[in-house]
Amino acid sequence: AKQLGRNTWQWFSEEMNTQANYRVKIRNQLQDAIDNGTLVIHYQPLIDSRTGQARSVEALVRWEHPEQGLVPPGNFIPLAEETGQIIALGRWVLRQACRDMVRLHAAGFTHCTVAVNVSPIQIRTDSFLETVKEALKASGLPPQSLELEVVESAVLYDTDQVIRILNNLRDLGVRIAIDDFGTGFSSLSYMKLMPANKIKIDRSFIKDVIQNRSDAAITQGVLSMAHHLGLEVVAEGVETDAHASFLKRHHCDLLQGYVFSRPLPYDQLVDYMNHHGFR
Ligand code: C2E
Ligand code: CA
Ligand code: CA
Ligand code: CA
Repeated sequence: AKQLGRNTWQWFSEEMNTQANYRVKIRNQLQDAIDNGTLVIHYQPLIDSRTGQARSVEALVRWEHPEQGLVPPGNFIPLAEETGQIIALGRWVLRQACRDMVRLHAAGFTHCTVAVNVSPIQIRTDSFLETVKEALKASGLPPQSLELEVVESAVLYDTDQVIRILNNLRDLGVRIAIDDFGTGFSSLSYMKLMPANKIKIDRSFIKDVIQNRSDAAITQGVLSMAHHLGLEVVAEGVETDAHASFLKRHHCDLLQGYVFSRPLPYDQLVDYMNHHGFR
């Protein structure tokens, strides 16, 4: 690898595209990470806009690479999706996140829910429902405390199939959030078919929401539509106080972003919850 560590994204993607051997090497290393525990989950709090307290956390996977240090998911999730390793990786994240949440409940934060990202590839495998059941059973986490985040575009792969799977998950008691909302070009009419509890407005709309009138209009429109459909709304990428007050003023239910907290390792999350968590 050239320029080690300077830009990990380049390190993975450029080399991956040019050298087949290199891809094989990374794939083997990733398999080792999945099997031998060098993946870690960081948790980012979601803040209730009315109380200012954290009542949910999103599980975000990272890879502790021996040479590269902490590698962000954007650098290995796409590869894992291509190779099918996303199935085992996703299962590991689900199990670990459920276990950690049981620990967090035992620490007194019994109302906290955990949101786990599910790849469109993972959700369409036959074993997925069983994987979710197993993770809940093995950890003892109540299904209501687990939320699955599915990107809006996942529905476009096979609408009927994905909606059927989401309905089965809902029957288990698990909650569903539609992630990156607004980026999937799905028709708004899908929304009434989606068995979702929550939508997450993509951070590309929040970034310039103060200066850009169309981003503000879209954000307000999504909030209004979602609330009329009985859905909660999360804004992602809340980076400034101005973002937060705009979103509070427009009754966005939950706020997530660097202005509150970066994603944190479990121990640091507990410290954060002790200061800002809802008990
Ligand atoms: P996402 O689900 O949209 O997650 C939110 C991303 O935004 C995270 O990046 C988070 O660290 C980042 N973020 C949070 N607050 C802010 C902010 O205020 N400003 C900015 N600029 N960014 C913020 P991260 O952790 O690098 O994850 C990237 C993506 O990787 C996630 O996007 C998700 O699509 C995927 N991902 C992460 N963990 C998993 C996983 O366990 N399974 C699957 N299938 N995908 C995952
Ligand atoms: Ca997400
Ligand atoms: Ca998102
Ligand atoms: Ca995203």
